[in-house]
Amino acid sequence: MFEYRIPDINLILGRGAIRQLASVVKGFGEHALVVTGRASMKKLGILDRVLEDLRKVGVRVTHHGGVSPNPSVEIVDKGAAVAAEAGCDVVVGLGGGSAIDTAKAIAVMLAHPRASSIWDFSPTNQDPTPIESAFPIIAVPSTSGTGSHQTPYYVITNTGTGEKPGNGHRSIFPRLAIVDLDIVSSMPPQLTAETGFDVMAHALEGLVSANANDISDIHALTAIELVWTYLPRAYKNGDDEEARERMAIADSLAGWVLSVADTTLPHAISHPISGFYPGVSHGMSLAILTPAAMRFTIDRASQETLRRLGRAAERMGAGMGTGSAAHCLEQIQELLKRIGLTKRLGDFGVEEGRINEVAESCLSAMSEDLDRSPVRPSFEEIVGLYREAL
Ligand code: NDP
Ligand code: MN
Repeated sequence: MFEYRIPDINLILGRGAIRQLASVVKGFGEHALVVTGRASMKKLGILDRVLEDLRKVGVRVTHHGGVSPNPSVEIVDKGAAVAAEAGCDVVVGLGGGSAIDTAKAIAVMLAHPRASSIWDFSPTNQDPTPIESAFPIIAVPSTSGTGSHQTPYYVITNTGTGEKPGNGHRSIFPRLAIVDLDIVSSMPPQLTAETGFDVMAHALEGLVSANANDISDIHALTAIELVWTYLPRAYKNGDDEEARERMAIADSLAGWVLSVADTTLPHAISHPISGFYPGVSHGMSLAILTPAAMRFTIDRASQETLRRLGRAAERMGAGMGTGSAAHCLEQIQELLKRIGLTKRLGDFGVEEGRINEVAESCLSAMSEDLDRSPVRPSFEEIVGLYREAL
């Protein structure tokens, strides 16, 4: 038996797709909150254009900007207060996963006016407030990416405790995602590499998750092949339209994998690193920790997990019938080299003395990811994984 539940997938993908945004938003509400990061969407002229387009069709707009990577409880609570005060009835997330996740979290707050903070809903609480609904969310990703435009989750960081749990509900799945290839093609090489590796992580982790099924496997294996083939090309030449398009498709496929099979060990150990050290981006922490997590898993995994990793290797150039888990790890390391992601935790100031604390946060905030992993590490083993990546 398995369950495959993805709420209505509504996705538009192509060059110039943003042109459709205003009329779509108008179908969902009269006053849009547009959520963005700090500067990129403004600098590229996309924010002004979106605001103008919305006004032209008679939708009122309020802008909530300044969302930093690894978005905080405070930026969500502030945005929710602004949106409630203005009477917003639809939320547009325009930017990377951080802007989209913040938009999703604000949409949850708007649907629960009695909640005092988005942290009330955190699964790390003793008695979290259940999410019952969310205001409609429209997602326009500017990275390829987190898959957040195609998942029912948001990830918000408590900067006080360093906890960075995900939370979800089917109502959070965006009513529509508009993936404009002109927008994602504006990513500089380093961001292309970091966010592109996140796509690989979603697909590879979903492939070995306890929640994987035959349908998510198809999406995962296709996404693995696309990232392997096209991410180095998009990294080397940002104007490679085919590579940008294939990466955007892989991002959405991996989002569906995430929605069903969810993430496992690499995400479990990466989130607390970005939680404690917000300067380490989500994709960078995955790039640093995935090889160690894979080695740990391969040494202890069941035949079924090894066979699955072998199938992934086949999609990364090993040739049909000849892939092995060890080859999969080699190919991941090769990919990381090709896209220039060869840093270590120590390069970002992660100190040995804080690793125990980070590992504790991993156990408390990421236990579901650990449970779904092919091999569940103990506390000492988690510490060992961080040490290995220092
Ligand atoms: P971010 O949204 O954090 O953006 C990273 C940086 O890239 C920012 O400085 C941003 O600048 C800049 N940027 C974004 N788009 C462009 C562009 N097109 N051109 C130039 N600069 C750009 O990055 P990610 O997309 O990787 O999102 C990461 C977050 O998503 C993490 O918090 C992660 O945990 C979460 N996530 C959520 C998932 C989900 O299912 N909800 C799944 C996986 C990850 P500026 O601020 O100026 O816009
Ligand atoms: Mn991710």
